[in-house]
Amino acid sequence: MLGLLGVVVHAQSALSVHLTLGNPSAAIASADTPNNHLILKPQYALAYSSRSGGPRWVAWHLAADWLGPVSRAGTFRADPALPPGAHRVTSACYALSGYDRGHLCPSADRTSTAADNQATFSMANILPQAPDNNQGPWARFEAYCRGLVRQGCELYILAGGEGTRGAIDAGRINVPDRIWKIVVVLPQGERDLERVAPTTRVIVVDLPNEQGIRAADWRIFRSNVDTLEHYTGFDFLSLVPVEIQATIEARVDDE
Ligand code: MN
Ligand code: MN
Repeated sequence: MLGLLGVVVHAQSALSVHLTLGNPSAAIASADTPNNHLILKPQYALAYSSRSGGPRWVAWHLAADWLGPVSRAGTFRADPALPPGAHRVTSACYALSGYDRGHLCPSADRTSTAADNQATFSMANILPQAPDNNQGPWARFEAYCRGLVRQGCELYILAGGEGTRGAIDAGRINVPDRIWKIVVVLPQGERDLERVAPTTRVIVVDLPNEQGIRAADWRIFRSNVDTLEHYTGFDFLSLVPVEIQATIEARVDDE
């Protein structure tokens, strides 16, 4: 069967719970991949780009055991695991930029221990985010997702930026044009990859990284995985069987 010649065998197995559904850019932790550099932490996984001075995507699992009583650490720090030669992005690089230090994996998603919360303040988990986006629909969607967890769901979440709206820190940090998130919603359970089905709810939002949207409902920014794959070049949910990907990646959530 000629068609089989085109099949890519996925020897890839998840290196981390956060990559259970795949590694969207096939990032690796090599000195040769400064712009697609895998950083794995107990709390999340990400692909770092030295060129853009931030993450290409961040992936994290969210379930009830990640949520607890710890309050927001607030102490932004340079990440110690950046690729060799990468500009060391610190909190000061964002000063007076007009942009928030926007968490991809939110502080409030990691409140079980102080170490987990502190990990979200790595600058490798941060993008320059317009305040009306970050503090408006983006924050309300984050809260909505935690609400799903409190209702008995567990989530696999991916978030990142795309495109260029400008730059800060003397051109060393790209300001993305859009900021997106993908949320795969499962009932709390075991063997999560095997449970992803054509009926699985997948919520995608894709927001302009701009002022003026603070009061907007996050629901008006819903999109689908296929659209994000088209403009990022990533393959999301790549460990999910392709027939199931085809269904859940085309759907736009309307719940
Ligand atoms: Mn935020
Ligand atoms: Mn895909």
